[in-house]
Amino acid sequence: MAKTVGDSGRGRSQAVHRALKRAILDQALSPGAKLPEDSIGERLGVSRTLVREALVRLSEEGLVDLRPNKGATVARPTLEEGRNLFLTRAALERLVVETLAGKLTPDQIETLSAHIQAEDAAKKEHATSIRLAGEFHTLLAQMTNNASLIRYVNELVARSSLILALYGRPHSSDCAVSEHQELLDSLIAGKAEVASKLMTHHLDSITTRALLPREDDRNIKDVLSAYAAAEGLA
Ligand SMILES: [Zn+2]
Repeated sequence: MAKTVGDSGRGRSQAVHRALKRAILDQALSPGAKLPEDSIGERLGVSRTLVREALVRLSEEGLVDLRPNKGATVARPTLEEGRNLFLTRAALERLVVETLAGKLTPDQIETLSAHIQAEDAAKKEHATSIRLAGEFHTLLAQMTNNASLIRYVNELVARSSLILALYGRPHSSDCAVSEHQELLDSLIAGKAEVASKLMTHHLDSITTRALLPREDDRNIKDVLSAYAAAEGLA
């Protein structure tokens, strides 16, 4: 993918998209934050039209909410959406590792190993570690050369990063780095079934480890349902 910003509107629009996306995923812009076209355009030195294009694309990726007459805001997905998203990712990413098991080239192995090392080094920086962890998954998807798989995994990973930024607990991705290494080892060894199980477990544990509702996010009905059942109430 070309990263150069040309004079063309398209190149500039992509650069605006990348800048905003990075700011959202790094949590520099928090969920619910307003995204006024005029201030963004002024700051980035581009027209409102280009900002608008970038915002539409971000809304298609689920990172931005666009409401008529209300303007754009950084998306605020629910916990339920978060859980569903990780379930969907697990299904798609099982296909990724099944495709790659035993087929990684030495170059690809080197790229993935270097990435895992970078993740390890960034462990203590919450936002950066979320981004790097996501990139490990998109890197794997890219290596399948399956265009639709790459596209969907990219979109879901970007949205997961936002959800983790919103609901993730500090250090909730602490053991993810060792899990990434285990995944890579199983791919190198050509153990498709092991890799598939590891991926399921990995995404499942992110869901249970990181996506627990915080006290103040809990709905009174959810809290009471377990107690109601235990007491034989409806
Ligand atoms: Zn991971």
